[in-house]
Order: sequence, then structure tokens, then C-alpha cells
Amino acid sequence: MPDLLSDGRRDLRFVVIGAGVSGILAVIRLRERGFQNVTVYEKASRLGGTWHDNRYPGVACDVPSVLYSYSFAPNPEWSRRFSSGAEIQAYLEKVATDFDVEQSIVYDEEVIQAIHDGHRWHLRTDSGRDDEADVILAATGIFHHLFMPALDGLGDFSGDVFHTASWNESLSLDGRRVGIVGTGSSAVQTVGAIVDEVDALVLFQRTAQWVLPQNNNVYTDEEKAAFRSDPAIQIRLHDEVSELFAEGFANAVVDAESPALAKIAQMCHENLLTVTDPDLRARLTPDHRAACKRLVVAEGFYDAIQRPNASLVSEGIARIETGGVRTVDGVLHEIDVLVLATGFQVDQFLRPMEVVGPTGVKLSEAWAERPIAYLSMAVPGLPNLFMVNGPNGPVGNFSLIEVAELQVEYSLQLVDYIAAGDFRLVAPSVEATESHEEARIQAAGKTVWATGCKSWYLDDRGVPMAWPWSFREFQRRMSTPDLDSYVLTN
Ligand code: NAP
Repeated sequence: MPDLLSDGRRDLRFVVIGAGVSGILAVIRLRERGFQNVTVYEKASRLGGTWHDNRYPGVACDVPSVLYSYSFAPNPEWSRRFSSGAEIQAYLEKVATDFDVEQSIVYDEEVIQAIHDGHRWHLRTDSGRDDEADVILAATGIFHHLFMPALDGLGDFSGDVFHTASWNESLSLDGRRVGIVGTGSSAVQTVGAIVDEVDALVLFQRTAQWVLPQNNNVYTDEEKAAFRSDPAIQIRLHDEVSELFAEGFANAVVDAESPALAKIAQMCHENLLTVTDPDLRARLTPDHRAACKRLVVAEGFYDAIQRPNASLVSEGIARIETGGVRTVDGVLHEIDVLVLATGFQVDQFLRPMEVVGPTGVKLSEAWAERPIAYLSMAVPGLPNLFMVNGPNGPVGNFSLIEVAELQVEYSLQLVDYIAAGDFRLVAPSVEATESHEEARIQAAGKTVWATGCKSWYLDDRGVPMAWPWSFREFQRRMSTPDLDSYVLTN
């Protein structure tokens, strides 16, 4: 007989993998439902996930602060419309303290194995620690395996070289010549933040990006006081911004012909016109449609790249040498520090963890070609394992906190059945997963991501891998699990 909670439900054992925004959320929601038997394994030495890892100058979230907050923990102290990484990290720390999440987290332990014996998951960490779980919530995140470019001679560089997500915080850039490889969100934020500090800044651009301007006004003391005295004001603001974001942005990118997307493109074009030098402007002009690649949203980038100490190098990189970066035109760009703003391997999710289901289904085989999941959350043959922000979910310019809240709530509805004794194991059926995948691929063709550019949104076949329907559709699909799509085992 399983142990029972005071209300007669089964007292289930949970392991949450990862203590980032989704892992912290999972613990809070599990506790709210009366489940106390929860352990979080976090491979880093602190919570926060991507916000703990990414501490490069200028790191910030380009999703409005009121949306990039938990619905149950509005933060009246946000200093601006869009928050810095440090402020988000402080917010996550505070939420974890306020909701007593810390006591459930085990740091510096990476889960490397999860094997289901037909009864429970058996987990092992990299230090050899064993644990068991009835249910796993995998909140492993998307941006946690760095993409290191294969640049010839990288090891020969005599200066400091590091990725934006492992920034060398002890290094002063004052008076240094700094090269940055990449023009994604991380690079653009870094450029704006360091240009005034460094002696020279050289941005190595392989592909020009569209940049949507951002108006990052501060919240005044009066506004903050109003938020503090009446939390309902901020909740209303959250709902309004969420609506605007869903209609004006999320729905626009999944319909390449939408008027809302045309408006976004126009704003990007107008922003580019602030670059006065025609040659520089031409080199900064992308050859693809706005939002085809993950849109960069930033204030001040074009100002920064037009500073006298900044230069844009749009020739390809031939190799890295002791003293700098040699481009294909033969020019050596001498630098002291090389920053790789080259992004992440975004198709890893749970991997490289070894995951084996009760009938021998292996995640490594199921995902041998590419990661596939039913509704981005679960894999056939791997019961009671729910991913938060897993493959093919709404990613990119969305609030991953909003997405995670919907997914955790959906998973916990399935957990409720297990706790009530309706069934013991639940995994999506192969049929439901395949038909979801087919529909997803078909819909992906209509999105702006499929309009002819290279980006991390595309899988190895060139099919966009983000949620291709509207955000409203995602909310609808997350509202109630359709049990017919699942294999239920007693
Ligand atoms: P990214 O968007 O993947 O950009 C990587 C950049 O590195 C691209 O410009 C890419 O060029 C370049 N690159 C890669 N390999 C290269 C090579 N061998 N030679 C030259 N250039 C190379 O990475 P990211 O900027 O770190 O952003 C990743 C994601 O994190 C974002 O898309 C976003 O979702 C998230 N993020 C969000 C925020 C935020 O404000 N919310 C901030 C930072 C990051 P190509 O374009 O030619 O491939």
C-alpha cells in the first residue's frame, strides 16, 4: 500500500531536475497541492538557471518584467519595464526564500541517469547519489549547453577568451580591445553595455540581425508605491501586457502574412535608419525577414556600434591567431579579449542524461534524430516524466515563466489522477505523439521562421521547432489533459 496524505490521496515522491525559473515554480505548485516529498537536483551551485549562468555585462530580459514574473508573486520593485539579469536573479532568490523552496534543493548534483523499473524512477547523480521518484519534473531549461564555435586556432589566442554564459567577472575590460563573435541577443546586449568602457570594440558579424527598438523606461517611485499598496494594479497590468504580447507578437510570428508582423518589420526598418553611415547601414541590413531569426529587442545597439571606438567586421572569420582574429580578406583584427556570444545547443533538454522507461524505451534512441515530445512535455514509453519548456514549445520572444506555469499546471492535473489512484503511470501514446508532430510540422511552414534564414529555431531538416500555433492555442491545449492521448497503467 502506498503512503497516504491526510486527505486520502497517495503521497507521491517527486524529483525536480533543475532549480531555474521552472524548477522553483514546480516546487511551489507541488507544495500548494499538498505534496511535500520533493527534491530538486541542481547542477550549479546556486538557483536561477540561465539567470545564474548568464552574468555578462548588459544581460537583461527582453520580455516585459510584469510578464517575466510568476503570476502569484508580482514584484512591485522592478526598476524598469524590462529587467536586468541581476534583478531577475534577485527576484528568483526572493521568491525561493518567500516560498521556502531552498530547503528542497540539492546543489552541485547533476542527474545523469533515470531508469524506470515499472514501479518507480531510479535516479543517479554525477556524484553517485541515488534517489527514487514516482514522478519526475524535468525543468532542465533550453540554454544550458554552450555552443562553442569551431574556429580555427581558437586555442592559439594569447588573450582572454570566454563565452557570454561563462563571463570572466574578475577581468576588467577598462582600456582593453575586445572582440565579440555573434550578433544575437547576448552579443547585442554586451556591445551596448561595454562600449564606453573598452578601448576598442570589434563586433564580428556573420549574419546581420533585425533589432526591434525597446523603450526601457524606469518605474517611478509613485508607480512602485501604487504596486506595493495594491497588488491588483500589477496583476491587471500583467494581464493587459500578456494580451498585447500574445496578439501583437506571439500570434504575429506564427503567421508570416499577418499585419502585426508587418508592423514589427516596419519598426525594425525605422530603427535601422538611425544608422547614419550608409556603408555601415548596408552591412547591418539583414537579408531575411524581421523575426525570421529570433528577434533582437534592444535599446542603444545602433548608437553603440556607431561610436568612434566601435567597429563592425562583416568579413568572415578565417582563423584566430595569437594576437587576434584574421578575417577572410587577410586583415588581422588585433584584440586582447575575445568574447564568444555564439549561443547554445538548444536541442539537448534532458540530454545527456540516460533515460530508460519500464519497457526499455531509451530517450537516446527516441531522440536519435531530433527531440520530439507530445505537447512539448512528455515522451511515449517514459511515464510520469514531464518536461517544462521541453522540445517544440513556445520559446523565443515569449515569457518562459508564463509557458512554464501553464505546463506545470497541466502536468499536475495528470499527477492529481495518480494521487487519486485513477492510474499509476501515464505516458503519451505513440499515435497521439505522431499526429501532434505531423500537425506541428505542417503548421510550422506558415510561420515567419520558415521564410528563409538560418536560426536556432530550425531543426536539422530546416523545420522550425518552436510552437507554431498561437499562444491562445497553447493556453487552450494546456487547460485540460486529453486522457485519450495517453497510455494509462494501473
Ligand atoms: P544566438 O541567438 O544563437 O546567436 C549566436 C550568434 O553567434 C549568431 O549571431 C551566430 O551567427 C553567431 N555565431 C555562431 N557561430 C559562429 C561562428 N562560427 N562564426 C561566426 N559567428 C557565429 O545566441 P544568443 O545571442 O546567446 O541568444 C540565444 C538565445 O538566448 C536568444 O535567441 C534568446 O532566446 C535567448 N536570450 C534572450 C535574451 C533576452 O533578452 N531575453 C538575452 C540573451 C539571450 P549566425 O546568425 O550567422 O548563425
